[in-house]
Amino acid sequence: MSDIEIAQQAKMKPIIGLAKEHFGIDAEHLDPYGHYKAKLSLDYVNSLGGKPDGKLILVTAISPTPAGEGKTTTTVGLGDAMNRIGKKTIMCLREPSLGPCFGVKGGAAGGGHAQVVPMEDINLHFTGDFHAIGVAHNLLSALIDNHINHGNALGIDLRRIQWKRVVDMNDRALRNIVLGMGGPANGYLREDGYDIVVASEVMAILCLATDITDLKERLGRIVIGYKTDNKTPVYARDLNAHGAMAALLKDAIKPNLVQTLENNIAIIHGGPFANIAHGCNTVTATKTALKLADYVITEAGFGADLGAEKFVDIKCRMAGLKPSAVVLVATVRALKFHGGVAKEDLNRENLGALEQGFTNLERHYRNITEHYGLPCVICINHFTFDTEAELDLLQDKCRTLGAVCIASKHWAEGGKGAERLAHAVAETADRHLDGCRFVYDDHLSLWEKIETIATKLYGAAKVTANAKVKAQLAAWNGDYGRFPICIAKTQMSFSTDASIKGAPSGHTVEIREVRLANGAGFIVAIAGDIMTMPGLPKVPAAEKIDIDENGRISGLF
Ligand code: ADP
Ligand code: MG
Repeated sequence: MSDIEIAQQAKMKPIIGLAKEHFGIDAEHLDPYGHYKAKLSLDYVNSLGGKPDGKLILVTAISPTPAGEGKTTTTVGLGDAMNRIGKKTIMCLREPSLGPCFGVKGGAAGGGHAQVVPMEDINLHFTGDFHAIGVAHNLLSALIDNHINHGNALGIDLRRIQWKRVVDMNDRALRNIVLGMGGPANGYLREDGYDIVVASEVMAILCLATDITDLKERLGRIVIGYKTDNKTPVYARDLNAHGAMAALLKDAIKPNLVQTLENNIAIIHGGPFANIAHGCNTVTATKTALKLADYVITEAGFGADLGAEKFVDIKCRMAGLKPSAVVLVATVRALKFHGGVAKEDLNRENLGALEQGFTNLERHYRNITEHYGLPCVICINHFTFDTEAELDLLQDKCRTLGAVCIASKHWAEGGKGAERLAHAVAETADRHLDGCRFVYDDHLSLWEKIETIATKLYGAAKVTANAKVKAQLAAWNGDYGRFPICIAKTQMSFSTDASIKGAPSGHTVEIREVRLANGAGFIVAIAGDIMTMPGLPKVPAAEKIDIDENGRISGLF
């Protein structure tokens, strides 16, 4: 059965009743969007302040294959299993973007018997948060061109505007555009471009903001470009944009409640890109869940070199979160991929390749335990074609690391298939004194922070950059030196070359470009080509998505 067929057979319960039954949340605190989705009121979120926090558990992965190795699926399956063994648990996930839904990767509601529902709604529009974020972003874009049209009192340099426009679609034709065509009545001609909504700084801001006041301040701090003197930044607040932008986000800031196939509560809120941004769900959702449940399981984008690092160094550092354990998801097929097996042959047993590819898992495991200072349970996300010999070998290899490693069958069996994993994770989290280590100190220079990440985590020998990039970072050390770094590089490798598998060392990381995300509060360091507006493949998933006369959707995955 396909993911969507399983999801459509779910016996969903009205979300209002579930929220009351599981967490005692009264209906008055919920804004229902139909029967199965609801937003939590901010009054209620704020009223939880005095309660103690539950344990925060991060689900991350080894360097993935393009299909993804099952972080979301494992987050949901583990959450269902924790609830099954009597541990009160909430899952915190990111909202899917329409781009990948219609492209290659598909949606982001889990898979098999470990899914959140209603799957179609979650993957398509959901509660409209991404729409609101896109409109808030584009309002600022419109205000910029309007300001220029009416005389440009701020002296904005038309050639140095960095604030683009956004749309939630993979549409490569919009990457570079010319606007203002058609003569004087239509403003000034200039080059512009589109990013996908999840790459918008407004998305990162919404995810890191602690309340509406903080949201508004961060929106006001956005640097949209520079004045004609080439150095004075122009802020969104100079255009008086931040109040209206925040007003547009009045509902988007509220966490969304849904349920899993097994009728446990999940909060799905925010969905920033894991390259140009930090790739985690909202701080509001995570903090709220920690007040409601004894355990909160959340996922960060890409492998542990990117997602977990940003979770720790950006999200936890900024929001004061203290995680208790990490689940490192690995698959036999991805490890064989790291051992050199071609994509078409991954379903065939290959012990040699598995052993060789294990270096990737080992590096991630050591980074988590030694550099993030967190205990780590390895979860082998079980695929039906994994062989006993492969699983045994993997267990042996993990034992040599002193690691707890559990093959888990939540995709095939739901929560029941992940009970052993749940026991191991709960025990590990309970034993750990909450909190993690940051990879670098706040007071290091921006360049030193980048060097620390690259050498400690990626195994790089050195970091290089041209004089312009170095000068830019040096100039930012004054006002923005305390900012953490958000590295944008391929998720496929520890290096900046996607084709280098396993655990490379001695390589060079070249920082090609740096960007200031002043509202989000981090510096993006770009190592390699990064996509802020993806394209669709030759045969996009959209071609298989359909709806019948009864309104039943097919082809989503
Ligand atoms: P990630 O969050 O790491 O990107 P997902 O959990 O979204 O990965 O899973 C990616 C895809 O792989 C989904 O379509 C999911 O249904 C599928 N998948 C995950 N685990 C399994 C499994 N054990 N067996 C088969 N397919 C799986
Ligand atoms: Mg995911």
